[in-house]
Amino acid sequence: MQYRMYGKSGFKVSAFGMGCMRLPRIVREDKAEVDREKAWEMIRYAADHGVNYFDTAYGYHNLTSEEILGEALEEGGRREKVIIATKQPFPVMADLKSGGGKTLHENARRNLENTLRKLRTDYLDVYLIHNIGVPVWEDIKKQKIIEEYEQFRSEGLIRAIGFSYHGRYPCFKEVLDFYDWGMCQIQQNLIDVDNETTDEAMRAAGLKGCALVIMEPLRGGSLAFPPDSVKAVYGEYGGKRSPVEWAFRHVLDYPEVSTILSGVSSMEQLKEDIAIFSKPDAVPHCLSEEEKKIIARVRETYFSFSSIPCTGCEYCLPCPQGVNIPQVFSKYNDGIMFNTFEPSRRSYFFQTRSGQAASLCVSCGACEKKCPQHIGIVKELKTAHAALAGWIE
Ligand code: SF4
Ligand code: SF4
Repeated sequence: MQYRMYGKSGFKVSAFGMGCMRLPRIVREDKAEVDREKAWEMIRYAADHGVNYFDTAYGYHNLTSEEILGEALEEGGRREKVIIATKQPFPVMADLKSGGGKTLHENARRNLENTLRKLRTDYLDVYLIHNIGVPVWEDIKKQKIIEEYEQFRSEGLIRAIGFSYHGRYPCFKEVLDFYDWGMCQIQQNLIDVDNETTDEAMRAAGLKGCALVIMEPLRGGSLAFPPDSVKAVYGEYGGKRSPVEWAFRHVLDYPEVSTILSGVSSMEQLKEDIAIFSKPDAVPHCLSEEEKKIIARVRETYFSFSSIPCTGCEYCLPCPQGVNIPQVFSKYNDGIMFNTFEPSRRSYFFQTRSGQAASLCVSCGACEKKCPQHIGIVKELKTAHAALAGWIE
């Protein structure tokens, strides 16, 4: 396993981090749950084969992911040998009804205590504010959430403070520059170089000495199953390399990256990932100019499949009903591009749960007037919703 420094923290982390958001599941009729035996076996296998970074969150797998990770690591003294990163989203802190606290700050503390209990540990190595973005950033500042996290750290409950982010670069940069974060977690992969936070974000985090953790290196798993036209581009490269390895190497190339998370759903996937990240050349600057050109052509080939011409400019936002229009279109386009809606459906499920689904649209038309691409947003939202709805978590 290759290891990298984790920002200024002094942690040395495995370049591959096990994401615990796509653990193996058992689906029965309209209910799904994690196959605990299989998940424990995979987590323990990872910890015993060089993986020392495990990422989970309050909400993953219907609030059970932290508990499953804690159960797996408790055995054999594995917990002390690894870094656990978990997250609490601002809306959960603010939800006084389900949190049980009298104030947002009391809730945040109760949720952390609950997380520690579930993870069977006295401390977290890294605690993130989950999914910071434009809709919540002002409230996070106003409510002094970072100060609350600092208090947790001064009590020894957490060691490093971080945030995860989905969205565009300008807000990311504002968040990054606001505080001396221990780490940040962003989406990057060979498709998203100019989307989401862009590779500019990676450089900016590196310059600050902030540990950079990459999520979605396989775009929800989609990059593992390319269409024939993409396979043909990869095929022009002489050596044998799987699409998964191409995707991982794209992110490994960045020296700013500390660890790359991937949610694994089977032991075979896990073993394949560990093998890729254990190669002697799975290091920063691992890509040649020829390989970078192949990746650029792979990206162009994928983009030729997009169907709704949304550029993600966000001029149509905010929608008075809360619909996150560009995110819906992006998930739909991913489904078309990757010839499978499975990963997009899963991520649309979470979008729906946070009140941003296409089905909330009341056809007021306000967004269409602002769209420079003249997209028939109302109609396209219906198409997208029909394709994306129905995931069972
Ligand atoms: S048409 Fe629908 S998506 Fe557009 S602003 Fe109105 S409610 Fe929101
Ligand atoms: S304004 Fe149009 S192009 Fe821009 S994000 Fe909204 S739908 Fe997409």
